[in-house]
This record gives sequence, structure tokens and C-alpha cells, in this order.
Amino acid sequence: MATFKEFRNNVKPNWCPGCGDFSVQAAIQRAAANVGLEPEGLAVISGIGCSGRISGYVNAYGLHGIHGRALPIAQGVKLANRDLTVIASGGDGDGFAIGMGHTVHAIRRNIDITYIVMDNQIYGLTKGQTSPRSAEGFKTKSTPEGSIESTLSPLEIAISAGATFIAQSFSSDLKQLTSLIEAGLNHKGFSLINVFSPCVTFNKVNTYDWFKENIVNLDQFPDYDPTNRIAAMNKIMETNGMLTGLIYHNKERKSYENMISGFGAEGLANQDLSLSQEQFSKL
Ligand code: SF4
Ligand code: MG
Repeated sequence: MATFKEFRNNVKPNWCPGCGDFSVQAAIQRAAANVGLEPEGLAVISGIGCSGRISGYVNAYGLHGIHGRALPIAQGVKLANRDLTVIASGGDGDGFAIGMGHTVHAIRRNIDITYIVMDNQIYGLTKGQTSPRSAEGFKTKSTPEGSIESTLSPLEIAISAGATFIAQSFSSDLKQLTSLIEAGLNHKGFSLINVFSPCVTFNKVNTYDWFKENIVNLDQFPDYDPTNRIAAMNKIMETNGMLTGLIYHNKERKSYENMISGFGAEGLANQDLSLSQEQFSKL
């Protein structure tokens, strides 16, 4: 069985010292080893952005795609080779701006992919512009008077789009992040894992200290039930999207590749879809 070191390669990341993305990379490598993967059984597909470089830093199959298109590529990879474990990865600009259409439809499609977003609430690669995750009033070169757009909540969108697995973590909490990625890899369907991953160079507002002060860890709520969709939506809204932990998990819904004929014994083609007289009369 591969150790986490076997998921390392010789490429030195060129992220800025202190960037949160280093820990996300370490968590992916640890989680891959912990769930018993081998490097040849994993593909990491990324989009464009500082975080998108991650596909080159993990010893696995990888493809560094184009801006906002990690998910279409990852879905193609998964459907072409269902034996591969597929991680898609990128930043908040990549996944929640140009790529948002793909994100919503990959969520509702429920293909068995783990999507890890490194959310630093800014565009880092292009030297600091406002992203959909930036707060109202956030000042950057693109919003010198402060952002006048509302902040996008990917967790609320994911719940309403029919997500089957939603988690959120913080790059500084390597233990929690690793265990959530493990849970995402083990989930048979689409997993969204949003990770607060500070950009130390361009975001001087959402710093490590800011996240530590504002994060609400779900461990504080021992009665929280992550299988309750309405409770998940309420908790996301109550905490203004700052909660961390396993937020929602639906193990019942089948993954996309297990629903289409030709892709396995559980395909729709093998199910009796005819309505009984009683069901028909209720339509
Ligand atoms: Fe990380 Fe920001 Fe540097 Fe990009 S610019 S590598 S996001 S710290
Ligand atoms: Mg970003």
C-alpha cells in the first residue's frame, strides 16, 4: 500500500511561502494514502489559478486544464475510466466564477469525483482582484472603492443544486482537512470540499488570524445531523457560510455513472420504471 510520500514528486511548488495551498496538497497526499490508493489509481485534474498548479505537484495522473474547465475534464476522465479515483481542484475564481455553470451541473449530475476548492476569496495568480467569494466592500485593484456585489455562497448553491456531499475546512487544520478529503474520496458521488486557503500575498483581510476568529467548527454542535438537508441549509445560513466540518452527506443517491445504461449493473436500463396502476392514478 502506498504511503503519503509516494504521492509526492520532485517538482517544487512555486507558491509563495505561507500560502495555504501547501497544506491542501499535503492533505490530499495523506488522504490518498489513508484510503488505500496507489498513485496509478488516482487522477488530479485542475483549472487555472495558483491552486491549479496542484495537479503537477501530486504523484498521480494529472491534467492542468484551462480556466474554469477542471470539472468537464474530470467528468470525462471518470466516465472514460471508472476505475480511476478522480480529484478535481482549483480556486474560488476558477470554480465559482467562470466555472460556476460546470460546478452546478456536476453537482446535480453526482458523478463520483472529489472537488477540492482552495478558497482564498481573491484572484491570486493575476495579482489580486475581487473574486465572487470576496466580501462586499472588499478593496482590490479591480474594486478600488470596494466591491458592490454580494458574496457568492457556494455551500448554499451546492445544497440547492442537489449535492450529496458538502464539506468545508481550513488549510491550517490539517487533521480535519485530511479526514474530510478521505470521506470525500470514500463517498460514491460528487463531493464538494471548500477549503479556506489564505493568499498571504494579496489578501490582507482574510488572513490566517481572520479565519481563526471567524470559523465555526461543527464539532461545537454535537447534535448536528449532516444527513438533514434542511438543517444543513439552516446552519450554513446561521454561520454566514463560515462553518467547517462535514456539512451534508446523502449516501442514498446513486452516482451518475451507476445510473446510465452500459455503465454497470445498476443502470436505469436494468430497473423496472413502469408505474403501477395506483402510482399512475396519483399523477
Ligand atoms: Fe498563494 Fe496568493 Fe501566492 Fe498565489 S499569490 S501562491 S494564492 S499566496
Ligand atoms: Mg482565489
